Amino acid sequence: MNGKVPVYDTLTQSRWYDRLSVKLMAWVLLTSLSVGLFLSFIQVSVEAVTAQKHLDSDIRQYLSTVRHSASQAIYSIDPALGDQVLEGLMSSEMIVRARILHPNGNVLSQTNRALQESPLRVLTDRLFEPTRLYTLGLYMNTPAPTHYGNLEVTIDTFPAAQRFLNRSIITFIAGLTMAMILAIVLYAAHHVILTSPIKQIIESLLRIDPAEPGLQSVSLPPQHEHDELGTLVKATNELLNAIEGHQHRRAEAEARVLRLSQYDVLTGLPNRIQFRSYLQGAIDEAQINDQQLAVICIGIDDFGSINDQHGYNVGDRLLQKFAERLNESRDTLHTSCRLVGDMLALIQFNVISTLRVAAFAESLLQDITRPFVIDDITLRISASMGIVMYPDDGAEPEKLLQQAEQTMNLAKSDGSNRFHFYVASLDAEIRERKQLEKDLLSALDQKQLQVAYQPKVDMVSGQVIGLEALIRWIHPERGFVPPDLFIPIAESNDSIVEIGYWVIRQVCQDSQALEAMGHKDLSIAINLSACQLHRTDFVSQSLSILEEEQARTEQIAFEITETAFMSDLNQAISTLQALASEGMECAVDDFGTGFSSLSYLKQLPVAALKIDKQFIRDLLDDQDDQQIVHAIIQLGRSLKLDVIAEGVESLEQARHLVQDKCRIGQGYYFSRPVFMDKLPEALDEAGQRARDILGKEG
Ligand code: C2E
Ligand code: CA
Ligand code: CA
Repeated sequence: MNGKVPVYDTLTQSRWYDRLSVKLMAWVLLTSLSVGLFLSFIQVSVEAVTAQKHLDSDIRQYLSTVRHSASQAIYSIDPALGDQVLEGLMSSEMIVRARILHPNGNVLSQTNRALQESPLRVLTDRLFEPTRLYTLGLYMNTPAPTHYGNLEVTIDTFPAAQRFLNRSIITFIAGLTMAMILAIVLYAAHHVILTSPIKQIIESLLRIDPAEPGLQSVSLPPQHEHDELGTLVKATNELLNAIEGHQHRRAEAEARVLRLSQYDVLTGLPNRIQFRSYLQGAIDEAQINDQQLAVICIGIDDFGSINDQHGYNVGDRLLQKFAERLNESRDTLHTSCRLVGDMLALIQFNVISTLRVAAFAESLLQDITRPFVIDDITLRISASMGIVMYPDDGAEPEKLLQQAEQTMNLAKSDGSNRFHFYVASLDAEIRERKQLEKDLLSALDQKQLQVAYQPKVDMVSGQVIGLEALIRWIHPERGFVPPDLFIPIAESNDSIVEIGYWVIRQVCQDSQALEAMGHKDLSIAINLSACQLHRTDFVSQSLSILEEEQARTEQIAFEITETAFMSDLNQAISTLQALASEGMECAVDDFGTGFSSLSYLKQLPVAALKIDKQFIRDLLDDQDDQQIVHAIIQLGRSLKLDVIAEGVESLEQARHLVQDKCRIGQGYYFSRPVFMDKLPEALDEAGQRARDILGKEG
């Protein structure tokens, strides 16, 4: 509507002399007046000439009536008769002087009168001369016609001129009146036919809302359907409709773009950006009303394996149904969105207590466990949730969302199908973990990683038979970072793969160096993570590193935990077979801590079992540990596998193990893990300690 008022003003308040009809009238008036004037002038001029001609013939006719008497008077030289004749002539008011003259110019009779006086004479004397002179010859037949004198008459032209003038004025006035009438008629016609309908059209146009130009059409003034105005109105209406259509399409396109930018295409839920602004609004309102809010981040547990197992299509459909179910259970107290992937978020408004939030989360978890049916597949899923509270945990939407997300991840890693409330100390832990993760990415390049070696000894022969390679991270600020802290991080972002290859290369080089020092036949065991084991190119990559470093396969062995095998047993078996066929032995690490089962152990091409150090720690005092250790040793013997005890810290533990027929030991008692520079002494020391067990001399 803006801009309409000034236009309307200029249209309705236009000055009268700017109006079309007035302009037309002025034109008509001017032209008809000038044409009328011109024509009247010609008419008057022509009439002036004819009027003079008429005057002449009238006078001559008048004079001829007295010719005979005047001739008689001059012939008989009778002045009295002459006077009488002239007196008769003077009865015409036009005649101002009359004379009867002898041929020699002597006057017989004469009479005079003054010219008529009138202010109009100024004009009439210009049109006609003031007087006109007529001379009539006087003859007598005596017997032949003889000239006896002249009759001379002077007339005043004024009376005739005045009559002429009166007629001319009437002619002029008639002409003017005609012009005026024509102008007025044209003005009126123009007003009725053009100005007034145009005004109606303009008013109708001004009523049109520019925002919706097609809503109202310009009205057609009656009786103008078929003329140019009708065409104008129709064309205008078509144009307005076209504009409306165009605007409509444009608005639709804009709305589509807006939807795409604010809503998730798959679930139709608001996206993260939109949700953040909802959350900001909710926080603002909660702040005013002094209320609490809960932000709940929900992730489907193990969504990746649903995708792997049933395909992305089913995964997408599940997400849709999942979103629908969340919305079903949502009342006016909630609003939800899709953050990313399988992660949804929810705001719970006006929370009275965290207990209520917990109850709500619990009910959501329950709700989610109801099976989802997609086509003919029935899926049972669970979800994990992270919950943050406004204002307790923060007031910044993005921060709250991040915290909720982290808390959810924590709930997932805690075993899933549960909810966690955000705890500030955990947040700090997560942040530290994130920082470590970042630092770890550059640790390799910046040569912050090193490999330490811990000897394995044959407790019966008193010989060092091998080493275990244990990675060390010397952080530039934090110093020593324990592998138990950073290995899981490296596993979570797969950087363990690159690190693992680096360890293999390092071990090859160190093994060569050891051989050069005379320590032959010491195979070095390298710890492997599940994700390394499950890489299809692991064996070939490892072999090419060995080749590059000119190491033999017997110099290398691997230690793999039970849980690493279990996640994909078939893959593990084929990798281990490939390693074994190349001459690289594998040991089951941390044996006894997982789901140790005979059936899988029989299938695995492994050469040794490593008893986890947790069973060795209290071996001398704890009956249970003694029994477990005994059982593992027996199992190893029956399967013809070496059994290695790790975490041996004392001579007594070592003796107990030897008595129980465990030959190989590893632990602080023999040697701590040491770097290459200290390794030769450590090897000697470990050998000595091993021989001490059975009291052998060095
Ligand atoms: P693990 O394979 O069970 O390694 C044995 C752990 O026990 C080592 O801890 C070692 O230093 C420690 N240890 C050795 N003797 C004793 C002892 O007498 N008493 C006690 N209390 N501990 C002893 P570390 O070096 O901190 O390594 C921890 C874990 O990190 C290893 O457990 C292994 O799972 C992982 N790890 C170490 N290096 C690598 C590597 O290069 N690659 C992979 N994937 N994992 C590694
Ligand atoms: Ca190990
Ligand atoms: Ca262990």
